[in-house]
Amino acid sequence: MRVAVLGAGVAGLVCAYRLSQEGHVCDVYERWPGLGGQAATIDVGGGELLERYYHHLFTSDRHIVALYDELGMPDELQWKPSTMAFFLDGRQWAFNGPLDLLRFKPLSPPSRLRMGLAVLLLQKRAREVGPFESITAREWIEDRMGRGPWRKVWGPLLRGKFGERADDISMAWLWSKLTLRRQLEGDEARQEQLGYPAHSWELLFDALRDAIVAAGGRVLIDRPAAGLRRAPDGGLFVEAGAAGSFRNGHDPRAFARGRAAAEHYDAVVATVPSDVFAGLLDDDLAAAIGTEYLGRLKATEYHTALCLLLELDRRFSPFYWTNIADPEVPFVGLIEHTNFIDPQRYGGRRFLYVANYLAPGDPLLDLTPEQLLAAYLPGLRRVTPQFSPDWIRASWLHREPAAQPIVTVGYHERIPPLQTGVPGLVLANTTQIYPEDRGTNYSVRLGTDAARALLSGT
Ligand SMILES: Cc1cc2nc3c(=O)[nH]c(=O)nc-3n(C[C@H](O)[C@H](O)[C@H](O)COP(=O)(O)OP(=O)(O)OC[C@H]3O[C@@H](n4cnc5c(N)ncnc54)[C@H](O)[C@@H]3O)c2cc1C
Repeated sequence: MRVAVLGAGVAGLVCAYRLSQEGHVCDVYERWPGLGGQAATIDVGGGELLERYYHHLFTSDRHIVALYDELGMPDELQWKPSTMAFFLDGRQWAFNGPLDLLRFKPLSPPSRLRMGLAVLLLQKRAREVGPFESITAREWIEDRMGRGPWRKVWGPLLRGKFGERADDISMAWLWSKLTLRRQLEGDEARQEQLGYPAHSWELLFDALRDAIVAAGGRVLIDRPAAGLRRAPDGGLFVEAGAAGSFRNGHDPRAFARGRAAAEHYDAVVATVPSDVFAGLLDDDLAAAIGTEYLGRLKATEYHTALCLLLELDRRFSPFYWTNIADPEVPFVGLIEHTNFIDPQRYGGRRFLYVANYLAPGDPLLDLTPEQLLAAYLPGLRRVTPQFSPDWIRASWLHREPAAQPIVTVGYHERIPPLQTGVPGLVLANTTQIYPEDRGTNYSVRLGTDAARALLSGT
C-alpha cells in the first residue's frame, strides 16, 4: 500500500516505520519544520540539541527502550538518579523517598504517615485500574489520606496541571502515575532513576526517518496536511498546506493550500490531535465517519503546555524537578535539566525549564517571552530569592495546545477507537493512551498499534 501518515511525532514515525517493515511505502506529512512533535528538539547553540519541552524516561518505559535496542542503539539511553522537591510554605522540600515524606513538615506527622501508607498500599496492591475509573482523585485522596494531603500537596499539584478541572480528574489518571513509573525494589526504592538519551531525542527520530526513507518512503517536514477526502476508488486524498503554514497556528482550515495537487493514498494514519483531525475532514468524509465518532473527538479537552526554557549562567536550585504547590506561584514546575544531565555536555551551560499547563484562552498564553518572564519573576524569586534576570543568557518560549488530555471520570468510555469506521483511515493520538499518562514510551506503543489496526482493518 501507499500510506500517508500525518504527523512526524513519535507515534507517526513509529507507525510509518512499522508499516515500512511490512513492505508498505509511507509518506509522512509534518506541520513543523522538524521531527519529533512534542519531543522535538531545538539547537540551543553550538550545535547542542535540547528538547523544547523537558523530557526524561522512567525505568518502566519498556517500549521505547526496546525500540532503541531494535534500531541498534542499545547504549544511547543513560540512566541516572534524579532529585525531586515540592515547593511549599516558602521552601523546597526534598521528596525522593519515604524518609523525605517523614520529614515533610507542611503535613502533620499523622498525615505524613497516612499519605505514605496510602501510596504504598496503592503501589503494592492496586494492580488493576478498574476500581479507580469511577471516582475522582480528590475523592480518593480525601478518603484514603485525609484533607490535609489534598489541601497541601495533591490539590495544588492537580490544579497546577488541570486548573479548574482539578476536582474532576479521574483517580485512574493518578493511579497510573503512582503505580506504573517507579520500581519499588533495588536501587530505585531509595532514589528514582530516570533515563535520557546521550544525543537528545533527535537521534531516535533520525533513525526512524532513515528507515522509512530506505524503504522507499518520504518524510516531509514543513508540509502539513490541510485536507482529507475520499477518492472514488476507496482510497483517500491528502491535500498539503503551503510551506510556512505552522506560522498560522494549528487549525488546518487556516492553512494556505500548497502548490502540488492532492496526493492519492490507499490508506491514511493520522497522529495529529483530535481537533486537528476533525478540521481536516471534508463534509463527505465527516459524514462517513459519523456523528458518534466525531462527538468523541469534540468531547476531547486539552490543556496547553506553556514552557519557558532559560539558559542560566549558574545553578538555580539543587533539584532536577520541583513541583510547585504554592498557589501564589504562577507556574507548576521547575525542571533544571542540568541538575540531571551534566552541564559539561553543553559546554558548562545550564538550562532551566519553567513549566505551566493552562486552559485554552488563559491570558498567560498571549504573553511574549519578556512579559512572561516579568510575570514569573516574583515566583522564581520566591523559590530562589537571590535569582536575578542577569543570570539569564538566552530564553525560548514554546506553547503546545494539545499537550495534556483532561482525564475525567468515565474517560475510558469516550476514547475514540483507532479505527475510524472508514476503511483505511486510522486515528492514533495521545487521547487514546490510557490508563497511562501520555509520554514518548506510550506513543511508541501507539504507533505500533496504529500500524496493526490499519493492517487488520484493510
Ligand atoms: C511539556 C511537556 C513535557 C513532556 N515531558 C515528557 C517526558 O518527560 N517524557 C516523555 O516520555 N514524554 C513527555 N511528554 C509527552 C511526549 O512528548 C508526548 O506524549 C509524545 O511526544 C507524543 O507523541 P505523538 O506522536 O503521539 O504526538 P505529537 O508529538 O503531538 O505528534 C503529533 C504531530 O502531528 C503534527 N501535526 C499537527 N498538525 C498537523 C497537520 N495538519 N499535518 C501534519 N502534521 C501535523 C505535530 O506537529 C506533531 O509533530 C511531554 C510533553 C510535554 C508537552
